[in-house]
Amino acid sequence: MSDQKDTILVINSGSSSLKFMLFKMSTETMVVKGLVERIGTPQANLVYQRPGFDKLEQPIQADDHGQALDKVCATLCDPGVGVLKSLSEVDAVGHRVLHCGEYYSDSVAVDENVKKVIRDCFELGPLHNPANLQGILACEKALPGVMNVAVIDTAFHQTMPKYAYLYALPKKFYDEYKIRKYGFHGTSHKFVTYATAEYLGKPKDELNAVICHLGNGSSISAIKNGKVLDTSMGLTPLAGLVMGTRCGDLDPAVVLTMARKGYSIDEIDKIMNKQSGLLAINGVNSSDMRDTEAAAKAGNPDAQNALDMFAHRIAFYIGGYFTLVGGPDAIVFTGGIGENSVNSRKIICERLKALGVELDEERNQQRGKACVISSDSSKVKCIVMPTNEELMIARDTYRIFQGK
Ligand code: AMP
Repeated sequence: MSDQKDTILVINSGSSSLKFMLFKMSTETMVVKGLVERIGTPQANLVYQRPGFDKLEQPIQADDHGQALDKVCATLCDPGVGVLKSLSEVDAVGHRVLHCGEYYSDSVAVDENVKKVIRDCFELGPLHNPANLQGILACEKALPGVMNVAVIDTAFHQTMPKYAYLYALPKKFYDEYKIRKYGFHGTSHKFVTYATAEYLGKPKDELNAVICHLGNGSSISAIKNGKVLDTSMGLTPLAGLVMGTRCGDLDPAVVLTMARKGYSIDEIDKIMNKQSGLLAINGVNSSDMRDTEAAAKAGNPDAQNALDMFAHRIAFYIGGYFTLVGGPDAIVFTGGIGENSVNSRKIICERLKALGVELDEERNQQRGKACVISSDSSKVKCIVMPTNEELMIARDTYRIFQGK
């Protein structure tokens, strides 16, 4: 590797997994990526891939995130398959962090206070924040003296005004418990906002857009002058759209009714987060959009209804956000579904005719690359813009490492 100080390691640490990517930021090149999965089990496994080389997979001992990271570091420096002479070549590490409440509106270099904030937000992000902190602690140990940067999923949404983020509940629930809308997928919404501005040749602080991040988890953001005005996820990532396994918006009294029927809070939590969405309604017991589309095509009425529910909810949000941003420069599709599902984009755009949206069927056949999919006569541009959350994490980390 070169002598330039631009080597950024990106870490996405989950409860039983640790994903990594190494970037050279002067050229924004991804040098290697991989993951350790099933951490804390006897089946722990390392997957390691350099572009242009075969993927390596090997069972490893990884009782915790520290051991997993040690193995990743050893592999990065391996004389055979490694890409570094020594770990001292890593200039900074960027960590995906789910939740930092109202504390940060930008990525931040990790110090004791940042770690305390991540810990204080365990209650807001009970599955992710503890794992994110473990990743940071493991890096502090394995790479002493190297800057760690927290790139926070809620940060980009901190520009929402109070009238957008507050729930109409008694004041104490916000004052005492910080119950409010936070929004998620912020790193993706940020990347796609900036990439869309560049694609359209607009300064990013002049961009108005409706960004539809549609994947296994899905959210929509209203972008006004390059900043988030509103977003569909809420206190947690459960709110908003119909997702792979999450139900999205409901009458809150549904929860009360389920509780009165005898379901415990933990059961309701599991049902709404893990057993709902496409999985629950498409009649083929799969959370995957491709399976839903295949079943609908084969004539399964439940699968067809699932697609209609998915598109109906999205069109509802797009209509609202279209109005709130005062007419967007573009409606943008991203995420696994947004980038690849020709059918989803079609059935969403069909519902947007009142806004003057007109899809170009041929342009809409494209997958996975930045392109315009609306016709030249469409009153509003619809575009596909691939997201790249890891690159966004690397960019923010590099910027903060450089003191910018
Ligand atoms: P993500 O969470 O962003 O990785 O997106 C995962 C979702 O994208 C899954 O529901 C996939 O079925 C969906 N997806 C990926 N490729 C396609 C495709 N070619 N057509 C339809 N859906 C797709």
